Amino acid sequence: MSTPTLTVDLNALVANWQVLAAMSRAETGAVIKADAYGLGAARVGRALARAGARTFFVAVAEEGAALRTALGPGPMIYVLSGHMPGDADMLGDMDLTPILNSLDQMIRHLEALPGHPFGLQLDTGMNRLGMEPSEWSAVRDIAVAQGPQLIMSHLVAAEVPDDEMNRHQLTLFRQMTAGLDCPLSLANTGGVLLDKAYHFDVTRPGIGLYGGRPFADARPVASLDIPVIQCRDVAPGETVGYNGTWTAQRPSRIATIGAGYADGIFRALSGHAAVWVDEVRCPLAGRVSMDLVGVDITDAPGDPKTVSLLGPDQGIDDVADAAGTIGYEILTALGARYTRRYLGG
Ligand SMILES: *Cc1c(COP(=O)(O)O)cnc(C)c1O
Repeated sequence: MSTPTLTVDLNALVANWQVLAAMSRAETGAVIKADAYGLGAARVGRALARAGARTFFVAVAEEGAALRTALGPGPMIYVLSGHMPGDADMLGDMDLTPILNSLDQMIRHLEALPGHPFGLQLDTGMNRLGMEPSEWSAVRDIAVAQGPQLIMSHLVAAEVPDDEMNRHQLTLFRQMTAGLDCPLSLANTGGVLLDKAYHFDVTRPGIGLYGGRPFADARPVASLDIPVIQCRDVAPGETVGYNGTWTAQRPSRIATIGAGYADGIFRALSGHAAVWVDEVRCPLAGRVSMDLVGVDITDAPGDPKTVSLLGPDQGIDDVADAAGTIGYEILTALGARYTRRYLGG
C-alpha cells in the first residue's frame, strides 16, 4: 500500500447524528456539502438515510444531483446556493429544492419551474446569503403565498455560546417569520448545542456529524494512516528537508512518510504538528513537501510501517490548531490520492 489510507467510520457518523437528533424535537437534517466535508457524500448520505435522516443540504445543484443518484427518490435535498442561471433542468429532473436567496432567484425560479418546491433564506446578520429585512418585508406576502417548504437563516457565531450575535439573530429571525405557518430552520451544529430556542423545525448540523468542534462529545469519524517510505539515521547537526529548517540535536532516526501538502497536509504544519506511532508522539521534522514529510521517530519503539496523522490520539481539531485553522478546513482538504475505506454504516 503506497497511498495513505483514510478510514471513515460510518457507525461513528451515524452515532453523532443520533446524539444531535436526541437533543431536540426538531427534525434533524444533515449538511453534506463539499462531498460531506471531504468524507464522501454518497456513502455518508446513504448511511444517514438508512439511520432515518430525511433532509439533506448541499451547496450547489451539481452536488445535489450526485446525491440524488446515490440516495434515490424520497429524501429532501436542499441546495443552499439557491436557483442559479442554467440550473432549472437539473433542479427539476433530480428533484432538488433550491433555497432562494434573493428576489432575483425567486423570479428566476417561479418563471423557470412554476410549482416546483423551494425554500427561502433570510439574512439575519451574516451578510452572505439571503434576503435582508427590508427586501423581505417587500416580498414576504408574495413569497409566502407560493408555499415555501422551509424558511431558514444562518448563525454567525453559534460555536461561541456567549456571543451576543446569537440572541440578536434569534430575535430578528423570530420577527421576520412571525405569524408564518411554514417550517423554520436556524441551527447549525453550534446552534443545536446552544439551546432548544434555536432548533425550530429542522436543524442543519454539519461539522458535528464528522466529529468536529464545537460538538465536544462527538465520536471521531476520520482516521488517516500514512505509509513510511524510508527510514534513516541523522547525526547531530544535520538538517532535514527543504531549506534545512530542522536540525538534529541528538543522534536521530527520521522516517520519510508518503503524504504532503498536495494531500492536504498543509505546509503551515511544518514545525508545529506531529504524527503518532502507537502511543508515541513523533514531531514532523523539517518542511512539509508536496508528497513527503520527514518525521522524527527517534523515540518510537522501532521503524514503523505507517504513522497516524488522524486517529485516537489526535483528531481533526488538534491538527487544525497546529495549522492555525479549523477542523472544517482539515477535512475538506483531505487528499484525493488517499485510499478511502468505510467502516460500518
Ligand atoms: C455549512 C452550513 C451548515 C452546517 O454548519 P456546521 O457548523 O458544519 O454544523 C448549516 N447551514 C448552512 C447554511 C451552512 O452553510
